[in-house]
Amino acid sequence: MPENAEIRNDALDPRNYNKLYLNGQYVKAQSKDTYSLKNPKNNTTVIEDIPIAGPADVDAAVGYAEEAFRGPWSQFTALQRTECFLRLVTLLDNELTPILEMDSLTSGIPISLAPIRELNYIRNCVLYYAGWTDKQKGDYYPADDGFVKLIRHEPIGVCAAINPFNAPLATFFLKAAPALATGNVMILKPSEKTPLGSLAASPLFEKAGFPPGVIQVITGPGSTGALLAEHMKIRKLSFTGSLGTGRLIQVAAARSNLKRVTLELGGKSPALIFEDANLDNALTWTINAILTRSGQLCVAASRVYVQRSIADQFIKEYTRRMELAINDFGDPQDPTTKLGPMVDASQLERVMGMVERGRSEAELIVGGLQFGDTGCYMQPTVFLNPKDDAEIYRNEIFGPVSIIKTFDTEEEALKMANNTEFGLMSGVFTRDITRALRVSSSLDSGVVGINCVSLQSLQAPFGGRKQSGVGREFGEYALRLFTEPKTVLINMGA
Ligand code: NAD
Repeated sequence: MPENAEIRNDALDPRNYNKLYLNGQYVKAQSKDTYSLKNPKNNTTVIEDIPIAGPADVDAAVGYAEEAFRGPWSQFTALQRTECFLRLVTLLDNELTPILEMDSLTSGIPISLAPIRELNYIRNCVLYYAGWTDKQKGDYYPADDGFVKLIRHEPIGVCAAINPFNAPLATFFLKAAPALATGNVMILKPSEKTPLGSLAASPLFEKAGFPPGVIQVITGPGSTGALLAEHMKIRKLSFTGSLGTGRLIQVAAARSNLKRVTLELGGKSPALIFEDANLDNALTWTINAILTRSGQLCVAASRVYVQRSIADQFIKEYTRRMELAINDFGDPQDPTTKLGPMVDASQLERVMGMVERGRSEAELIVGGLQFGDTGCYMQPTVFLNPKDDAEIYRNEIFGPVSIIKTFDTEEEALKMANNTEFGLMSGVFTRDITRALRVSSSLDSGVVGINCVSLQSLQAPFGGRKQSGVGREFGEYALRLFTEPKTVLINMGA
């Protein structure tokens, strides 16, 4: 952790963030519509008047973005872009922690995670992409047919990002960094539930030397997102969120200007625990993977398959640890709290509804109720042996709710793990490296962890198979999806 990243006292006032961030300035939205946000720990109001950006606001953002893309930003050399990235890293080290703390007021993400996990993750992402600006090399093919062929990877232009509520700042930088490293400009729309941190972080880009208009933030719910998805001058949209919304975005892109679309969608990630696994390691990973952010995690290990010979032992300890996790709940703004609430009352209600319906479809062995009577806290919950078509078994719950099933053979485990339309993440726990590699080949997901699960690496592609997504983020793969190849043909006979 950087030395200067300790929690600070200079708390930011969320009520100041009732504007859009356009062309390097906070401006009042042209749309008069607003909405309010509450703190999920106790349902008190945090801010009354977050703007709902309308068509004129989106058009203004696109206009500024086009000017920045064709104008000052296009004049930056790759190394000048790297310098901006490096200055941004220093600014993040110094200024991101209070922003993350303010963001926690509506996300409910414990601020204890801010300096350790969130800041490191975000600053390392920016640092990683700082090194890529001058490595957008192309190709050359000789004139064996009379024409030299040059291939350049060029930026796409005006890009948009639409982000989910559960990782507001992480998704902001994960999308902005590769987009800017390749010379694009970006308009971001954070989730309507968690916009504060994105609004507060955006001026850091100009402070770091990026020209105004390169990064802009507009706020609003799905209706604002839809304006981006159907806009005729936005050329690329990078979306992270639910499967249903992803589908709408793909349709809007196809109906408008065929903008390029990357979709990072939901998951129902399996963890396979074989009898020779290090059980303590398997327990630690699978429990963390369902409790982090109260289960509001795309890669949450929400389906756990245990080999029958160790099932009793594993399930006993798994349930014990899930029951004990109740002691980790607390005020997300208290730096000692490990587990916070769900993001809001509607998310709690949604998860509680699924759990209630699940009671008749599986055996509830832990939790199942709201935790406490104020705030949006949900007890860690475990179901055993669901019916094959149970809603809790087939759909993403996005809460601290896991399902355990037992298996006898590797073949049976793989069949159950792959029997889903999701394909984001899987984990296999075994000491047998041959089995681990064999199983990793057969698991139908974009990422497979061996003796770990619910993990991402900045260097390696991340994304879903099947209906968990289209395209990849992270590493070099993200850069490719923010550029278009251009072929230049040179007639050597002229
Ligand atoms: P959501 O789909 O409800 O909302 C995501 C974003 O889409 C929000 O900004 C929302 O305002 C916007 N939106 C809603 N309707 C829209 C429309 N018609 N057109 C354009 N934009 C629209 O998702 P959520 O509840 O905020 O996030 C949870 C989901 O995100 C889960 O499914 C989770 O698995 C997924 N997620 C995936 C990843 C990943 O990397 N694969 C990471 C985090 C979250």
